[in-house]
Amino acid sequence: MKIIKSILEIQQITTKLHQSKKTIGFVPTMGYFHKGHLSLMKQAKHENEISIVSIFVNPLQFGPNEDYDSYPRDEERDINLAKQMGVDYLFMPTIEEMYPTEMVIKMAATERTNALCGRSRPGHFDGVITVLTKLFHIVQPNKIYFGLKDAQQVAVVDALITDLNFPIDLVGLSTVRDNSGLAMSSRNINLTKEERDQAIWLYKSLKIGQQLIVDGEENPVIIKKEIINTLKQHIDVGIDYVEILEFPSLHTVSVIDKKQIIIAVAIFFKYARLIDNLILNMDGQVLKRLD
Ligand code: AMP
Repeated sequence: MKIIKSILEIQQITTKLHQSKKTIGFVPTMGYFHKGHLSLMKQAKHENEISIVSIFVNPLQFGPNEDYDSYPRDEERDINLAKQMGVDYLFMPTIEEMYPTEMVIKMAATERTNALCGRSRPGHFDGVITVLTKLFHIVQPNKIYFGLKDAQQVAVVDALITDLNFPIDLVGLSTVRDNSGLAMSSRNINLTKEERDQAIWLYKSLKIGQQLIVDGEENPVIIKKEIINTLKQHIDVGIDYVEILEFPSLHTVSVIDKKQIIIAVAIFFKYARLIDNLILNMDGQVLKRLD
């Protein structure tokens, strides 16, 4: 595996790869790898001739009171894990490399961001689409791999590649969970033991919501109420949101009848805000992959 820090160098490599008709699978990350990241790398490697992973904690997508400074980082461990996964190139630019000067061009998402995390984290997705646009130009991937754990991000990236005509295929892969059902997240490291025990109720409450839908409940208000009640019984911190929306449009739904929907929750623990979701197909079954 080759580690690359310079934009020019990786661009020269990917340009050559395209000239020799090699396909490139790309996994953008913020590092501090867990099994969720590794599953994306595995798939990128499996479906493409060359796999490229980036690690960049993007300041643009953190709000002023968010955890940019304390975001977990461990470069050495990440390098070893990427190597073990057989990744071909690990792109690790510095902030100065990515943002040498204040940007003159600003990007803004106008749809798909006024609900869920977009509402709670103003400007977050503008930062995400900015860095991804840069990374897509730099890496020139054929396929990009994202986790459905960050489902709103997938919905926004889907719009980004359509609206800006990126010749890239987006793949969304299912959320990797630990044995308790807790979705893997770099931020789980910030949970106390007690919070970790409570955090399993994100997934459990979502499953309760799914079961109601499978049993024929079509009213999202009733399902949301049940999820909120379950969370309140087991978690003694604040709920950011519980939402049921159409996916990927993220439009509101008044009746769940044969639509692909997302049930999403976000919870504030002391030092970590956790999110989780289930994307359900028209039969109420969890979507495993989005192409
Ligand atoms: P991050 O480093 O948190 O920006 O995440 C990089 C990529 O890994 C994103 O596409 C995330 O959606 C994905 N990801 C994060 N957690 C998980 C998980 N538990 N399962 C699958 N993918 C994940």
